Amino acid sequence: MKIDSPQSSVLRLAELLQEAERAVVLTGAGVSVPSGIPDFRSPGTGLWEKVDPMEVAHIDAWRRDPDRFWGFYAERFASLRDKRPNAAHEAIAELELRGHIRAVITQNVDRLHRLAGTERLVEVHGSIDWSLCLECRGKVPLDRVVRMIEASGGAPECEACLTPLKPDVVLFGEMLPEDAIAEAQSLALEADLMLCIGSSLEVYPVAGLPAVTRGAGGRIALITQGPTPYDVEAEVKLDGEVVEELRALLAALP
Ligand code: ZN
Repeated sequence: MKIDSPQSSVLRLAELLQEAERAVVLTGAGVSVPSGIPDFRSPGTGLWEKVDPMEVAHIDAWRRDPDRFWGFYAERFASLRDKRPNAAHEAIAELELRGHIRAVITQNVDRLHRLAGTERLVEVHGSIDWSLCLECRGKVPLDRVVRMIEASGGAPECEACLTPLKPDVVLFGEMLPEDAIAEAQSLALEADLMLCIGSSLEVYPVAGLPAVTRGAGGRIALITQGPTPYDVEAEVKLDGEVVEELRALLAALP
């Protein structure tokens, strides 16, 4: 990585995006922090402060005692439901609209990219939009799930077979959704530029996607605060506040 002034880094990134024909954006929790959603991997923040997410948000916890699982998870659902996209989500949707990127791959389950208008969105950790019945493969939308929880206080149930629902997000101990991972892999392979935004790129398999792009001869760019395993390989790294950096980037693009 070259050491440049912040402004020339923004211009360099704008140049890379214009040169690219198959650029892809990869986002993590940092993109949703300005919407008031704390990154639960940073210690001492919000909801996850008093509990171990590896324990309460584990597939075994859901299997063992769905009512107890939802007793915890309902709070997360209710708090995410009311969150709105921020200027970073909007800027990323604008990059797609202007034809600079072809897709967004995200680790976030908050569906805020979709609400901001991103059209090709690959949610590799699932989304809170739906909860699933694993018996009959039924799907129940978020609003109805929240109403069921408010009414019963326990696990929401499939109306057809009365089985407790599972949120359509990847719990600890679960496999990632095959279709989404396959799509993310092929986007990474075809990408001539992968722009990673708001992710420390530490959680596999998503953390391996920039390496797939690099291995196929593509470039990597970063907009994120704090170190990542790709800092040395990246063509450019912007490490200011994500909304400000994206605003400057959009201003530098046609
Ligand atoms: Zn069912």
